[in-house]
Amino acid sequence: MVGAVEAAVLTPTQERVMSDLMGSGQARPSFEADLASHLRADLEERLAPVAEQLEDRQLVVHKSALARVHTCEGHQVAEAEAGFSWSAPAAVGVVAHKAIELSVCLARTEGLAALVDLAIERLAADLDRGPGAWLAAASELDRAEVRGGAIDRALKFEDEFPPIKRAWRPRLESTLLTSLCNDRIVVRGKVDLALGQARGTTSGVLIVDFKTGKPRRDHTDDLRFYALLETLRAGVPPFRVASWYLDSGQCHQEDVDVQLLQAAARRLADGARKLHELEVARRPPTLSAGPMCQYCSARQTCPEAAGRSL
Ligand code: SF4
Repeated sequence: MVGAVEAAVLTPTQERVMSDLMGSGQARPSFEADLASHLRADLEERLAPVAEQLEDRQLVVHKSALARVHTCEGHQVAEAEAGFSWSAPAAVGVVAHKAIELSVCLARTEGLAALVDLAIERLAADLDRGPGAWLAAASELDRAEVRGGAIDRALKFEDEFPPIKRAWRPRLESTLLTSLCNDRIVVRGKVDLALGQARGTTSGVLIVDFKTGKPRRDHTDDLRFYALLETLRAGVPPFRVASWYLDSGQCHQEDVDVQLLQAAARRLADGARKLHELEVARRPPTLSAGPMCQYCSARQTCPEAAGRSL
């Protein structure tokens, strides 16, 4: 996939990525040099009461918990109690992104299907991280399911995106992390794809989150969360964040501005406070039934979901 994008004949969808999403040739916005420090100060001020109550404990906030706690607190409590375990559907995205990463970084010409096999092999060799241990022990059927899903995802990416050039500085499955209030609160996220680089105080980074299925409201919140973490990390915001829907080739994108980042900071602080109240202070969760009930570990016993058609 690496290589001569100039020589490549692009499909209309790939052209749309270049012009509308990547904004090739468009001017990038500049921001105040102290924006990130102001955002950090605002977050730490909002989170100070939480940090004080944590004493020597640490609260870890990640994208999924934040989304759940803002949608239905009961859902967050149920998933925290159930714990996360890898499965074929959960491993598909990681394997697909690893294959795409290999296609960008390796000077080899295998098709993506072969790179998916290589990605599974590499990930399964790392028993301590990600889906490694699960993949290493997975049945032939589970591996086949992961392979099929990852190939589908990677090929759709290849169909819809122009060949990724190394000069675009692609980062895949890139971890973003920030530590607040003397390390008592840690916030982490992982972006599917980041391209570009800031120059001085001028934005240059595009963040893309790949999705399957239909758009949802919380996808926008995820993007803003990434924009905030990237700003705190790099000191300059990304110029744009986007959810790319691989099944439809459609995109929801937002240009990043100060108001968006401030709203993301308020949502993060509010969510961290709720997580603290639920996890540490053991406040009973509020329940709010909705479409997410079908994915909730508590759906069989939850009084709020009972009797509703979900
Ligand atoms: S079943 Fe629905 S209402 Fe009940 S805790 Fe889960 S998400 Fe919330």
